[in-house]
Amino acid sequence: MRLLTIAALLATLPLAAAAAPTWQTISSEPGKRIELDRTSIKRDGNTVQAQGRIVLEKELIDTRSGGGYRVIEAITRYDCGSRSANTIKRIFKKNETEVVREEDLKGSELPVRSGTLDDKVLREVCRPPKESQAEIAQKANEAASQLKQANEALLKAEMAKAEKPGPVKTADAGHGATPAAAKEEEKSAIPSIRPNIKPALEIPKTPPPPPPAPPPQKVAAPAKSATVVVRHSTPAAKPKQTAKSEGYMLELAHTDPAKQHAGIHWDYEGVGGPENWSKIDPKNTSCAIGQRQSPIDIKEGIKVDVEPIKFNYRPSTFRIVDTGKTVQVAIGESSISLTGKNYELVEFHFHRPSEEKVNGQRFEMVVHLTHKSDDGQLAVVAVLLERGNENPLIQTLWNNMPLEKNLEVSPPTPIIDLMTLLPASPNYYTYMGSLTTPPCTEGVLWLIMKQPVQVSQEQINIFSRLYKNNARPIQPTAGRLIKEGR
Ligand SMILES: [Zn+2]
Repeated sequence: MRLLTIAALLATLPLAAAAAPTWQTISSEPGKRIELDRTSIKRDGNTVQAQGRIVLEKELIDTRSGGGYRVIEAITRYDCGSRSANTIKRIFKKNETEVVREEDLKGSELPVRSGTLDDKVLREVCRPPKESQAEIAQKANEAASQLKQANEALLKAEMAKAEKPGPVKTADAGHGATPAAAKEEEKSAIPSIRPNIKPALEIPKTPPPPPPAPPPQKVAAPAKSATVVVRHSTPAAKPKQTAKSEGYMLELAHTDPAKQHAGIHWDYEGVGGPENWSKIDPKNTSCAIGQRQSPIDIKEGIKVDVEPIKFNYRPSTFRIVDTGKTVQVAIGESSISLTGKNYELVEFHFHRPSEEKVNGQRFEMVVHLTHKSDDGQLAVVAVLLERGNENPLIQTLWNNMPLEKNLEVSPPTPIIDLMTLLPASPNYYTYMGSLTTPPCTEGVLWLIMKQPVQVSQEQINIFSRLYKNNARPIQPTAGRLIKEGR
């Protein structure tokens, strides 16, 4: 029985070794390591396809799947002549084996900037053939000897176990009967998947120019029995293409979202869109992982008597600014009181359509009046706007719309009275949520007036000229309690 086990194990070893990539560290820096699977390298003239990966020290959260990952593998095509890269696949993994998410990319070829992670891999895979041959042969020999040692150690361990009385494994124990044990064995048999098995290679300071095309040569890699055809041809100049983050392999692929999106401003669509808010700035983590986010679809609230909000809004002159995300207005001292607490009005602004839904329906627009208490608690009063008659207060604001973004206008004369913006009914919905813009801070008390007020089509059109859609998508309610004033 025991002999059978070992025989089965030995029979499966070479297969297991051949199937697994042999990761070789090509660069180490604080927090991460860049590795290359040389057996994955496929050359076609000046084009080299290779599988690389980043191994992170700390796990990061994949915002799309919610899973944690420490390894990002990427298959990238490099053009050694024009020094461009095109990543075609990325795999996010929790560890060596567990896949969190895979993505196929339709990126275009992008120029590789010097000093980036892509640059390091490109230099590795585009080395001149002479150097590569010798190196590949050497690496292959090293790998072979490591594999041999590991196999011998494993065999010894198996023999030692076999001599001890113990639970008897079935004949096919190599890979299956005891998955955990088999996994361990597989791991130790493949030294190259262990982290940092090799020191970082010396990377030439400048990319070596490809020499005139030599005849194709074959180099046999003994251990892996992998045949690598190394061939370089004269570089063919390629037209430069506009940079898109999609095409980069490791550098833009992952890990350092803050750096990756540095300089990108949050927005309602495109690369700065809501799904990327958390990646733009580490301060925005709540946008992705918060459990009490806004806006929500307001429905199935408990119908109760809610304490009326006391509005202490005073007629005032105003300051108005087009922030690039909305039209925002500030007025003189005003506040609300609720449950014995006073909240100062900070500003109010507009969204189109309304961010919040009520029973699945959005409104044409919404006004958010943001308040803050002395102890820092935020309370936002939402006034829903439906199409109807012209709204005099909104008309005053639109009349004073700044001509330029981020240029605050403080007209000296018109006075606005925010009390005239409020609906007749004091009833409202309330729940705990968040800011609907980065950093998506939670702990915000939402007070949504049940009765909408009217705004004319013309007034909606004016706002649409500036902002067609500045509403964050609906967030999961996740079992939060909603109160509905009855
Ligand atoms: Zn808002």
